[in-house]
Amino acid sequence: MTDFPTQLFINGELRAAKSTIPQINPATEEPFCSVSAASFEDLQDAVQGAHLTFVSEWRDLTPRKRTDLLFALANLIRKNSESLAQLECRNIGKPISDARDEVELGARVFEYYAGAIGKFFGQTIPVGRGGFDFTLRQPMGVVAAIVPWNFPFPIACWKAAPALAAGNTVVLKPASQSPLTAISLGKLAREAGLPSGALQVLPGQGGQIGDALVQHPLVRKISFTGSTAIGARIMELAARDLKRVSLELGGKSPNIIFADCDLEQAASSSPMSVFANTGQDCCARSRVFVERPVFDRFVELFVASTRKLIVGDPAQDKTQIGTLVSSSQREISEKFIAEAQSRGRRIATGGKRPINKGFFLEPTVLLDVQIDDRVWCEEVFGPVVSIRPFDDESKMLQEVNASPYGLSGSIWTNNLQRALRLARAVESGVLSINSHSSVHLEAPFGGFKQSGLGRDLGMTAMEGYTELKNVYVAV
Ligand code: NAD
Repeated sequence: MTDFPTQLFINGELRAAKSTIPQINPATEEPFCSVSAASFEDLQDAVQGAHLTFVSEWRDLTPRKRTDLLFALANLIRKNSESLAQLECRNIGKPISDARDEVELGARVFEYYAGAIGKFFGQTIPVGRGGFDFTLRQPMGVVAAIVPWNFPFPIACWKAAPALAAGNTVVLKPASQSPLTAISLGKLAREAGLPSGALQVLPGQGGQIGDALVQHPLVRKISFTGSTAIGARIMELAARDLKRVSLELGGKSPNIIFADCDLEQAASSSPMSVFANTGQDCCARSRVFVERPVFDRFVELFVASTRKLIVGDPAQDKTQIGTLVSSSQREISEKFIAEAQSRGRRIATGGKRPINKGFFLEPTVLLDVQIDDRVWCEEVFGPVVSIRPFDDESKMLQEVNASPYGLSGSIWTNNLQRALRLARAVESGVLSINSHSSVHLEAPFGGFKQSGLGRDLGMTAMEGYTELKNVYVAV
């Protein structure tokens, strides 16, 4: 089936490339299409075209016009939502109901930033010398948006929308495992009336074109979501020309359960805080800290809720847990589980492949894990959680903050003082209290420490796609 675009999208047109990347349906292990992989020449054309559109058209468009165009794109995303969701489901094994929610999120992100354009402005500042002083928020130029495979469509939208709204043009590089909805997004942007070159889409192997994209002299900012290792490399390369970077990276988020919380609610909500998207979520709360008096009861409830999760064909409406993105991604999780077992850790549930075909893996709960176990310290990026008891709040907090990461996390308690005390003390960019939500499109999203730099979403992201200029007028 090829009723969806599979080529590069450059200067308003689909373009075939010499080399291609096969796309495998992770639920069937069958290849179902091949996608063009950009060469260095394609990269040059894409960046040059984006630059030309920036200086000749997009930068100076009236706010009203830019608003109209981004609203038109949001409408087109909605009009095509079912086919986009089906495509994502097939490309990465994501449950169709999640894929539908994520396409809707993408449309809402474009609406949010379309509406923000006319409400985003500088300040006038009373300066010591008198006269008149004001600030301007100016677009940067070409933004390279590099996105991962776990949430391909919404992350592409939440980078492209604020960058375009602020007046930049965008070269979007999807991950080689999940390029399909990004190509469709480029095509829809053109259909919505955005100028050719405003949103270029360059599928390709990050290892091959990534460095060249980051170092291209016309690229002014790199907005990256992906692993901490690649994020660090991008920052290093960008530093040579002092390019702007924002990095959303890995995580090892805590889920902290106090004895005074609504335990039933915490235990029924918490499994999806780690197993949603088959655990391939930077915000996955894969370290659970439970206050000792309720430890056994919490584990019992958590395991029972986990066993009720519907694992299976991602194309079915009822499915809650689909596949991992690839065989190698599943092997990473299996290695963590095998290593934990070899050290005598207990598997309370899961650990096996539930279905013969497809990259499925059962949601897995590990007990008796020790604080120096790899599974307790490192990001798994698969459906594996470890649960440990704690006795003392301050010791637990030390352990939470000992992680090099600081992306997300939850605190479950009915004690307001404690909730606020810990909300301040946990070193993390995003936290939720009595909830497992991490992403609100109106609010900043990003990490402390090795989880990243800069913020996506909210008005903070839009600021991050501008340079701040101060102008003084002698009067
Ligand atoms: P990855 O770092 O391997 O790839 C991310 C993107 O970078 C892909 O498009 C890839 O092609 C590209 N890339 C690879 N090498 C590159 C290079 N040398 N130069 C430029 N680009 C290059 O990550 P992944 O496996 O796609 O995603 C999983 C990781 O992403 C996890 O660590 C996860 O925690 C993280 N993640 C973070 C967030 C967040 O918001 N913090 C969200 C989703 C995923």
